[in-house]
Order: sequence, then C-alpha cells, then structure tokens
Amino acid sequence: MVSDRPLAQAGLQSERVLWPERGPGVFEQEVAELEDALLLTTVEKAVAWAQSNSVWPDTFGLACCAIEMMSIVSSRYDIARFGMERFSSSPRQADLLIISGRVTHKMAAPLRQVYDQMLEPKWVIAMGACASSGGMFNNYTILQGVDKIVPVDIHVPGCPPRPEALMEGVVRLHEKIRGGVPPAYQIRGVAE
Ligand code: SF4
Repeated sequence: MVSDRPLAQAGLQSERVLWPERGPGVFEQEVAELEDALLLTTVEKAVAWAQSNSVWPDTFGLACCAIEMMSIVSSRYDIARFGMERFSSSPRQADLLIISGRVTHKMAAPLRQVYDQMLEPKWVIAMGACASSGGMFNNYTILQGVDKIVPVDIHVPGCPPRPEALMEGVVRLHEKIRGGVPPAYQIRGVAE
C-alpha cells in the first residue's frame, strides 16, 4: 500500500534541507552574485533589461477603465519612473497594448488591426473585468474576453482597476520581460 504521508515524515529530506550551505541553489546564487559584482551579463539579459525599461504603450482607450489608465501618467502615479511616460499615437511606435474597457464586436476588428500594426516584440495587458471576460456585459454586443482576438500577457482584475493595480500589472510585465518569458503570441500563437 502506498503511504500518503509526506516524505519528510518518513525521514527523507531534500539535499537543500540536509546541506543548507551547499546544493544547486547555492551555486545559482553564487553565479548571480558574481554577475552582479563583475557586471557580467549576456546579450539576451542586457536586451531584456533595456526592453523592460522602455515599454511604450499605445494610446488606445475604450471605456471607463481608460480614465484610470490615463491617470497613470500623472505626477501622482508617475509611470515615467518605469520608462513608460511616452504613450504612442501610432501602433508602429508602441510595443504595449493596454485594452482598457469593454470591446464590442464592432470594435474587435479595429482593435485587432491596431495589434497587427505593432512591431514585435509586443505585449498586451487586458485591464479590467470587461476586457478580461466581458464583465457584467454578458450580451450579444460585447466580446467575452479579448483573448479571443489577441494573445494577452497580463490580466488586471477590477471594475475599474485602480491605477495602482494597473501599475502592479505593468511591473509584473517588466518582470516577465526581464525573466526571459516570451510574449504571449509566441507561447499561444495568434489566431487568424
Ligand atoms: S471593467 Fe468596469 S470600469 Fe472597466 S470598462 Fe468594464 S464596466 Fe467600465
């Protein structure tokens, strides 16, 4: 009979528990500290660092959530701290699409066109309940989630999300970029 007791109760412990000063985790930590001390890095890490500090959002407001999105450029929230003060009026000069509000079926095609016009690499934040799932608008006019037409990297919950919540989503996106996580379109592909 297979016991469902945790292995630790049977006296088995991982290498890290048995030798906290050794093991693969310690080696990874030492390499990271060495890189920091000597300013060593790889081209991929340097590019990811630069990209994460210069993500330019497209100017694309859809509904009430857009009011909260606009406020993140104000001095109170100061998105410029993250190199993002420049909202681009042209999708060709933007690499982040913040979908801020409900998307009607009529708006779906222009939205997808804007996304297609952005150069790669590019990322998408679905801001608010409506963009993520249709929210309270479960009817024939509203798209029930923008991930049906564009690949979404970050979902920010709320109705509307406060600017701080959007900032949290932005910071998470930066962490993904710096961590080498590919954009959503590379993972899930882009529906035609
Ligand atoms: S999530 Fe709420 S605030 Fe945002 S667009 Fe929908 S109804 Fe408006």
